[in-house]
Amino acid sequence: MTDCLFCKIIAGEIPSAKVYEDDKVFAFRDINPQAPTHILVVPKNHIASANDITESNADAAAACFTAIPKIAAAEGLTEGYRVINNCGAAAGQTVMHLHFHLIGGCTLGEKIV
Ligand code: 5GP
Ligand code: ZN
Repeated sequence: MTDCLFCKIIAGEIPSAKVYEDDKVFAFRDINPQAPTHILVVPKNHIASANDITESNADAAAACFTAIPKIAAAEGLTEGYRVINNCGAAAGQTVMHLHFHLIGGCTLGEKIV
């Protein structure tokens, strides 16, 4: 998608601090980290949000979740981490390209659920 920030990052048109890439997944450091480790794990295919996952594109979302343990291990997150998805504007999603926040590197604060 031409007007999507994360599609541009995946394409290398906008620089990012990449930490992981495979054929379906791209992961890079959040520009405004909320913890010592704060990585955005995104499918290379443009999927607008978790609400747009279907049987035909679910492999891209699943690939994010098989990448996450590899990234966590590479980052040394042996004590645990949090994976967050904000789905839709009311949930605080600001970039409309599906992404999972991988957050760790410290004792994490208050839980919502
Ligand atoms: P959301 O609020 O949609 O769940 O998360 C979007 C995330 O993207 C935010 O945590 C924000 O800091 C991050 N972000 C926004 N623009 C950029 C950018 O240009 N580069 C990087 N690396 N992260 C960004
Ligand atoms: Zn996109």
